[in-house]
Amino acid sequence: MKIDTLLAGLDGVTDGAGGLVPPLRLSVTHAAQPGGPSRGYARSGPDGETLLETILARLDEAASALAFASGASAAQAALALVPPGREVLLEAEGYYEFRGIVQRATAARGLSLRLVEMTDLAAVAAQLSSGRVGMVWAEFPGNPLWQVPDLRRLSALSHGAGALLLVDATAATPHHIRPLTLGADVVLHSATKFLNGHGDLMAGALALADPDARAALVQHRTDTGTILAPFSEWLLLRGLRTFVLRMERASATAARLAVWLADQGLTVHYPGLPDHPQHAIACAQYTNGFGPMLSFRMGTAARADAVVAAVRIFRRATSLGSTESLIERRAATEGPGTRCPADLIRLSIGLEAAEDLIGDLQHALDTINRTKDNPT
Ligand SMILES: *Cc1c(COP(=O)(O)O)cnc(C)c1O
Repeated sequence: MKIDTLLAGLDGVTDGAGGLVPPLRLSVTHAAQPGGPSRGYARSGPDGETLLETILARLDEAASALAFASGASAAQAALALVPPGREVLLEAEGYYEFRGIVQRATAARGLSLRLVEMTDLAAVAAQLSSGRVGMVWAEFPGNPLWQVPDLRRLSALSHGAGALLLVDATAATPHHIRPLTLGADVVLHSATKFLNGHGDLMAGALALADPDARAALVQHRTDTGTILAPFSEWLLLRGLRTFVLRMERASATAARLAVWLADQGLTVHYPGLPDHPQHAIACAQYTNGFGPMLSFRMGTAARADAVVAAVRIFRRATSLGSTESLIERRAATEGPGTRCPADLIRLSIGLEAAEDLIGDLQHALDTINRTKDNPT
């Protein structure tokens, strides 16, 4: 069965009374069932996968999947798979908040952390040659420059050195990349973003190649109390019903915007453009287009700020993956210590008509070009 079909009917769900919508079960504790196992206390989750987890596993072609209260809590759990005393190799040019989160989490667990650009396979191999790396943590694509690591080669290198490969695929989603089919061991999603798609909940997921890793992760989730809340789980299932449609629309619009922005003479970061540095790897690994995220450069921070201030349809907010398109000057969001170029504008594309989004950017660029005789 294709993913579209699976999600449209949520795997043929019923609510137990013939209803075609999943039930919302809020109970924290559960009475002992005569003769049968009880769900017990909610923090531990049920025995086995929930409907949501089964669907997430199918999306990623995984042996098993787990849902968490956020992407960040899924990340903390993933670090529990790293044996004590080993190193974590993290994408240097990736999601900035995770540099801090992974740095603090590894330090607290006595693991050391090294940053490396995952598109530089020679640098990755050099780090792995120590034999001490327990996990390679890649991002597909890297945020906010959307560089594309070669997951096949990264997984071969990682496994050759006895390390697990984790891929944060939040920005590409299973619509565009299935890292486990390319050799990764763990896929991380912030389901807060495109998987839910409506900007109204936080959730995270881990998809696993090895079903035996599940028990340790369930234990970690129970210990840290990071189970996904029932209402968020229910909303996420609802959001997933339209996942494929949303991704098709947002990716097609992003591809149009990328070409349009490049035609304006701007530098554009988008894996689908032929001048993207890893375009060939992107073509070999992406499915269904190149995703709804792109960035472009305005030359100076002031010109980028002026564009962000002039748009009327894009919403000026951080985050990604909702129905409405978002715009930000990324370095301003990341703040001091950012590695992001100061003039970079990041776009998360939503479900508006492409013509309206192009018109909005055209208007913003016209506004700043009119004032270019008095540059700020
Ligand atoms: C948002 C995000 C996360 C963190 O997930 P939360 O749900 O916000 O905790 C991790 N990775 C990427 C690429 C993200 O965009």
